Amino acid sequence: SRTPVIAGNWKMYKTTAEAREFAAAVKNELQNVSGVEMVVCAPFTTLSVLQEALAGSKIAVGAQNIHFAEEGAYTGEVAPRMLTDLGVRYVIIGHSERRAYFNETNETVNKKVQAALKHDLVPIVCVGEDLSEREAGQTFSIVETQTRAALAGIEAGQAAGLTIAYEPIWAIGTGKSSTAADANEVIAHIRKTVAELYDGETASRIRIQYGGSVKPENIGEYLAQPDIDGALVGGASLAPDSYVGLIRGAV
Ligand code: 13P
Repeated sequence: SRTPVIAGNWKMYKTTAEAREFAAAVKNELQNVSGVEMVVCAPFTTLSVLQEALAGSKIAVGAQNIHFAEEGAYTGEVAPRMLTDLGVRYVIIGHSERRAYFNETNETVNKKVQAALKHDLVPIVCVGEDLSEREAGQTFSIVETQTRAALAGIEAGQAAGLTIAYEPIWAIGTGKSSTAADANEVIAHIRKTVAELYDGETASRIRIQYGGSVKPENIGEYLAQPDIDGALVGGASLAPDSYVGLIRGAV
C-alpha cells in the first residue's frame, strides 16, 4: 500500500518560458489524478516559476541537487533552506551524472541526505551500477553499498519517508531499459538492505523507484512489479504530453 511516486528529472533543460508552458499544459490534464504522487525536478532557475505555475495542482516541485551546509562561502551552491523557502518538496540526491561529473561520493550523498531531511525535504536518493559492474555480477553489492552509505546515521522514522531511485547507469538515456523483472529483483534487494539496516516496517514503507529509459509505453510494466514504487524519468518527462502519458500509464 505504498503510493507510487512518478518524478520527472528535467536535468539541464528548459528556460523559465518553457517551464511555464509545460506547467500550463499539464496542470488541468492532471487535476483529477489520484493514487500517485506527481513530481517535477527542475533546474534551480525554473523552480520558483514552476512553484507559482503549479500552485493549486497536485504536482509537486523538486530540485536536482543541494549543498549540505546551512549557508556559507560556497560559490555556486544552493542550500536546503533556499529550496524550502520556495515551497520545494523534493530533491534528487546522488544522481549518477552528479557522481560521475561532479565528484559526488557516497559520503557527500549521505551528508546531503541528512541536510535534506533536517529541512523536511524528501530526498530521492539515486543508486545504480554501471555496465562493467553489472557484467562483473556486482549489481547487488554496488546498490547495497550505496544504500548503506546514503542512509548512515539516519533514523528509521526518517528513512521510511525517503525515496530511493534505482537507476542502472547503462539504462540512462540509452533506450536500453532494464526488464521490469530484473529491476524488481534489484529493488527487492535494496528493500532487503533497508530491512537489515532498520526493520521490516521501515522496509515496507520506504518507496523505491526504477529509472532508466522509462516511457509512457513501458511505465505500466514497472509499476506492475511488487517492489517498484514509481519511476524517475529523464527524457520522457520533458514534453507535456509525454509527462501526462507517464502519469496515465502509472494509474
Ligand atoms: P532517461 O529517462 O532519460 O533514461 O533518464 C533517466 C534518469 O537519469 C532520470 O534521473
